[in-house]
Amino acid sequence: MKAAVLKDKKQFAIEEVATPEPGPGEVVVKVSYCAICGSDVDRFKTGRYPGLILGHELCGRIAEVGEGVEGWSAGDRVAVEPITQCNTCYWCLHGQGNLCPNLGGTGMVGIPGGYAEFAKARPVQLFRVPAGMDEKEATMAQSLAVALHVVHLGEIEVGDTVVVIGAGPIGLLVLACARLAGAGKVYVTEKAEGRKRAAARLGADAVIDPTEVACPEELKKLTGIGADVVFGAAGTPEGIKDAFASARDGGTVALVGSHWVAELSSDMVTRGLTVRGNKAYRRCDFGRAVDLIAGGKIDCQALITDARPLSDIQRAVEELREPTTQVKILIAP
Ligand SMILES: [Zn+2]
Ligand SMILES: [Zn+2]
Repeated sequence: MKAAVLKDKKQFAIEEVATPEPGPGEVVVKVSYCAICGSDVDRFKTGRYPGLILGHELCGRIAEVGEGVEGWSAGDRVAVEPITQCNTCYWCLHGQGNLCPNLGGTGMVGIPGGYAEFAKARPVQLFRVPAGMDEKEATMAQSLAVALHVVHLGEIEVGDTVVVIGAGPIGLLVLACARLAGAGKVYVTEKAEGRKRAAARLGADAVIDPTEVACPEELKKLTGIGADVVFGAAGTPEGIKDAFASARDGGTVALVGSHWVAELSSDMVTRGLTVRGNKAYRRCDFGRAVDLIAGGKIDCQALITDARPLSDIQRAVEELREPTTQVKILIAP
């Protein structure tokens, strides 16, 4: 089969590799679509895990079922939950499997992923894509699961004023979830054109461009005393600063995204802020994500800006490295 293999920093190669065969307790999925994640852009930049087939936001149809697999057959449409946890550590045993120190993942750590014609999975990873649910939209389940978990940590109450710093895919889905959770007003900051448009389409009350106005001041004007809940989804030191500055005293700041460093001050303490850090999601968030998409509760089309063939992956990832009109690009292997 054809697969995109990350060879080195900033270098994918389309290669002919052995088509996976299901071992006992495994299935092989014919990949319909796999969405490019911001974390894939990071892996592309750093060349981490050379030789691995990336791609962890995948949806497809079961091609082959291995020995001992029950309840699944060839042709079933599935979204694959990529994260595998050990189920034996302290965190797994205490309902916080997202913090498992032994996390693995399809297309992330060790296990070949969805930038290929076929990918292996175990039944525990499979979520059924019901009839009528678009397979392109099903690829948004993993990002939506992250957004659901962040919103869970933010503990929004009906009528709360919410700020979302950064309207990348996660920020946009946090906006959509905050709406569903009953937020009164949701204000979003973003500089990339396509993402600003998507935020407006997903129901932001205002979209503020940090390259045009001073963000915290503008947000203070809009919110009065500051936001009840702020979601920091920009993954930059400035974004983190803006997140803290735009919360009201006594408010909550929930942060998502990695690879940033920012200074903290005693402000956090004297202003009585609650700070929550998010990693991945709980398994139940993935199931809820699939159900919400299937039920038409999330306008996934606002995020899906393009679908490209596998041969285009290098160019697609390069495009996503800079602010662009793209939000989510899907690969159709
Ligand atoms: Zn992802
Ligand atoms: Zn564990």
